[in-house]
Amino acid sequence: MLSRPAVSVSASSSAATDASPSLFPLNTSQFSCQANSKVLRFLGNKKLPSLNCRTIGWRRSSSQPKSGSMESFTARATAQPLKNANELIDSVETFIFDCDGVIWKGDKLIDGVPETLDMLRSRGKRLVFVTNNSTKSRKQYGKKFETLGLNVSEEEIFASSFAAAAYLKSINFPKDKKVYVIGEDGILKELELAGFQYLGGPEDGGKKIELKPGFLMEHDKDVGAVVVGFDRYFNYYKVQYGTLCIRENPGCLFIATNRDAVTHLTDAQEWAGGGSMVGALCGSTQREPQVVGKPSTFMMDYLANKFGILKSQICMVGDRLDTDILFGQNGGCKTLLALSGVTSLSMLQNPNNSIQPDFYTNKISDFLTLKAAAV
Ligand SMILES: [Mg+2]
Repeated sequence: MLSRPAVSVSASSSAATDASPSLFPLNTSQFSCQANSKVLRFLGNKKLPSLNCRTIGWRRSSSQPKSGSMESFTARATAQPLKNANELIDSVETFIFDCDGVIWKGDKLIDGVPETLDMLRSRGKRLVFVTNNSTKSRKQYGKKFETLGLNVSEEEIFASSFAAAAYLKSINFPKDKKVYVIGEDGILKELELAGFQYLGGPEDGGKKIELKPGFLMEHDKDVGAVVVGFDRYFNYYKVQYGTLCIRENPGCLFIATNRDAVTHLTDAQEWAGGGSMVGALCGSTQREPQVVGKPSTFMMDYLANKFGILKSQICMVGDRLDTDILFGQNGGCKTLLALSGVTSLSMLQNPNNSIQPDFYTNKISDFLTLKAAAV
């Protein structure tokens, strides 16, 4: 039996189970339904068909766990080494793979990945690739897969840049409003594909503030959402512009592609991640964002809805505990930690670590050998 029950429940969840139909059934255990007057004013006080508590529940109350933090309410049994890959493969319909540290490391494919993906496809499994990296669009990621010799279609790729645009679509974000972007090209490309107007992004990378007496920065009053992702050209101009939009434009949304503390720009050290840019805006606005990337359940809900799959029929495979594994657990999926990325066995087994996947293995190509051994 692969699905191991949680061993104890330490806190109650306030998860709402609204039975009304919704295209994007967001989990309101993470985000409260504060359809405040500003949001309704921004949406013109219209009762939109898909506008319900869940889809506009972007604002988290202070009593709820921080998105991006360890928000699982259950203490899980200790992770087990994967011994019978066949059993795991047979028990699910879909594998969701994180990319960096699972499929590739930087620009290098991890050993055995093509054969493993081929084997899973030959057994009729749906494969989905999810990344918190918002610097590229789905199309740009498609090229990376192609360059690495992997046959993956754009429809199988879900980056947090895409999630930001999908989220705005899910709440019927008005097309006459604009999105201010703190982030890189991937977010702009996805917003464009979704038909949204935007400003900011790389073109604000070189802008400076000239602080002379009486200087006042103007901002576009039609900005209805600020999307913040990883941005190598982050600067004070962007912080101030985004802050003005969020603080002064009625109902302006604050959306984060992810809150990752660190990222891996080079293999020599860890670098400040998207969470550092998001944190700056949290500090200046005193607001918490709607996170659309991992470990928020938005993308999982979106995927389950798009493909019509039960979350219990999904196995999330990743190399990070606080994003990938938590993402799978928050979504109610099976989870497998690959030790081919940032998490070592000693980190997993550290007594201070409370995030325990169902299984762990060295790399996903273990599916091939463990499969053979199990037959
Ligand atoms: Mg990773």
